[in-house]
Parts: sequence; structure tokens; C-alpha cells
Amino acid sequence: MAYVNENYLKLPGNYLFAEVARRVAAYRDEHPDADVIRLGIGDVTLPLPAVSIEAMHTAVDEMAKKETFRGYGPEQGYDFLIDAIIERNYTARGVTVEPDEVFVSDGSKSDCGNIQEIFSEDAIVAITDPVYPVYLDTNVMAGRTGKLGADGHFEGVVYLPSTEENGFAPALPDRRADMIYLCCPNNPTGTTLSRNELQKWVNYARENDAVILFDAAYAAYITEPYVPRSIYEIDGAREVAIEFRSFSKTAGFTGTRCGYTVIPKTVTAKAKDGSRHPLNALWSRRHSTKFNGTAYIVQRGAAAIYTDEGQRQVAANIAYYMENARIIREGLSALGLSVFGGVNAPYIWLKTPNNMPSWDFFDKLLREANVVGTPGAGFGPCGEGCFRLTAFGAREDTEKAIDRIRQRLDI
Ligand code: PLP
Repeated sequence: MAYVNENYLKLPGNYLFAEVARRVAAYRDEHPDADVIRLGIGDVTLPLPAVSIEAMHTAVDEMAKKETFRGYGPEQGYDFLIDAIIERNYTARGVTVEPDEVFVSDGSKSDCGNIQEIFSEDAIVAITDPVYPVYLDTNVMAGRTGKLGADGHFEGVVYLPSTEENGFAPALPDRRADMIYLCCPNNPTGTTLSRNELQKWVNYARENDAVILFDAAYAAYITEPYVPRSIYEIDGAREVAIEFRSFSKTAGFTGTRCGYTVIPKTVTAKAKDGSRHPLNALWSRRHSTKFNGTAYIVQRGAAAIYTDEGQRQVAANIAYYMENARIIREGLSALGLSVFGGVNAPYIWLKTPNNMPSWDFFDKLLREANVVGTPGAGFGPCGEGCFRLTAFGAREDTEKAIDRIRQRLDI
């Protein structure tokens, strides 16, 4: 008799985006001529950088010839990509990362979701609230939580409220936490943690034998020079932190798929008998057993962004999105709304007027301004009363959306 993994039954349906799509479709049925602008998506809209296209064309041609054809590649990634990652993203910032500490993958959703497999089943998970839902859901699936309570919290999880009141810098937990997920720059709030804040977390992890799972998928969007790009810029982080990075938002690879995880060999955790084990070796075992490498063609496309020309092209695309972010942020602030993020991230997080529930604000924005965003409640209970807009739209649509909000939204 096959029984299901009942942990899956604890999860609510993928309510957020399905419900967004349902409400937009219903509105369009009623108003077929409405020009609806979507600023809810967390997906890029600009095409891949030309350097990546060119590198991938060349790689396709290599695949066509016997002499240059490639079959299975190294599971951990090709050296040409790993070396380029280390040089541009770490060595250039004074951070030491060894080639066998980088694991190339098909994107950071898989890595953020799969990493929990190398921790014990009874490890206690801490997550910021609100946050990217993958960290929590994958731990629910793995059985590290109890049931979902009426307050929207899963039993057994340590939630770290991240709100306007604490400046989006959550307090250290007052209970034990073993696996601490930090997302910086944050999705959905668009905020970052300062060097001091990150140092506080690294110190906590060292003192409590915890591990920080640091999602830096949006690191390339940081504009303020003093905000750390990597957790390894923080003293002691090489002993306690794993870092996730992605080419998705950095270089438009959302549909092309490439990311990587850094696990310094100095990050260890205990077995129940008290022996210590490097997590790098566990992840390497997992990665080589369950993953067969990112496509050679894709890795060539990713490596191309680390050339000087590639860096220029990527920076230009990010600057385009960040100008959208500025337009949204300043446009909404001028209307008297409380707005966060949008300086070091492509997300703008706003407080709904008069504490309106986030789904009510969704409907209001859709009906009055024909603009679609994402209700904050979908990212965790602390997201209630907030709303996320993204800077990934076309410039024209972004400007039009803000104009409409200014002219039509009754707030
Ligand atoms: N981490 C965060 C915080 C994200 O917002 C996303 C995508 O939206 C990802 C990871 C996943 O990125 P990828 O496309 O590399 O799987």
C-alpha cells in the first residue's frame, strides 16, 4: 500500500498567484477593453544580454561537431564558469571562495528548496515574515513543521517579523533556531540588512551552532555601496553561512535557468553522536546523486556576463529596472503612501492606505487604476496591510501605471 507524504497535505494550495490570476481574469471578463498593467510579476521582461546570446550560439555550434561536442559535464559546474563567478563576485570584493565551494545549478529556487535535505529532520527552522515562500514550504514538505494554525503560522517554525516597526531588521529569536533563512535584498519588502545586522546574525549562528541560509538572488540590484553583496563580507560567516545566487534576475535567465550555491568547507554541523561534518561534502554528495549538471550551453551564456562587455550589458538592464523602481517609489511617496524598498532591490513594498487588507487593496487597484500587484498577505502573516509592486515591467507601462494611480486611485 502506498501512502502519501502527509506533510504535503499541511500546505494550503498555491493560493496567492492562482487567486491573483482568477481575480484579474474575472475583471477582464467584465471589462474586456480594460488595459490592465501587471506590476505583480517577479519575472524579468528584457531579453538576455547580447554577450550571453552570442556565447550560447557558439556553444550550440560546438555541440554540432564531434571534436567539440560535450556530453555530461561536471555535476558541480564547469571551471570556466566557477572561476569567473569567484573572480567577479568574491575576489573582487575581498572575499575568499574556493572553486570546490561553488555548486552551479539550474537556479536558486531548486537550491533554496533542496538545501534542507542535508539537515536533520528535527532541525528548527527560522524564517523572516514576510518572505519568499519556498523556504517555508519545502520545510513543511520535509516534515519539519506542525500544522498551519489559524494565525497563518505553522507550528514549530520560528517566525521573525520583518516590519516597518523594526526597520525590516528582525530581532534575534528568543527560542532555539537551527536553520535560519535570510533573504537580502528581500523579496517581497525590497529592503536590505546592514553590515551590523548581518554581523548580529553571524554571531548568533556561531554562538548557537546554527546555519544561515542566505539568499542573495537580488545582490546585483544593490546600489548603496555600504550594503554587503555577500554574507561572506561579514566576519565569521565562512563558518556558519551558505549563500545562494542566481542568474535569473541578474542577467534575465529566468527562462534559461542557472544559479549557484556557495558552501565554504568550513561550514559544519553536528551528527547526533557529536561528530562534526562539513556541509560542503554532504551537499556535494546530494548534488552529484540527484543533479546531472546545468547545460553546457547555458553555462557558457552565464559565464559571458563576467566579461567586461557582459558586465556593462547586465548593469544597463539592471539600471533600466531600477529606474522603474525609482519611478514607482517616488510616484507613490508623492501621494503620501509609506513606501519601502526599490533602492537596492526591484521590489517596492507599500503600506496599504488606512490599513486596508491587502486583498481589498488589490481589488481597488485593479478596478480603479487597472494595475495588478501582489497582496502582502501572500508572503506571510506580517505582510498583511502591505502590497508589493515590481520594477520588472516595461518603462512605458510603469510610467502609465503610476500616472493612473495618481489620477484615479481614491486614497
Ligand atoms: N530567491 C528569491 C528570493 C526569489 O525571489 C527567487 C525568484 O523569484 C528565487 C530565489 C528563484 O530564482 P531562480 O529563478 O534562480 O530559481
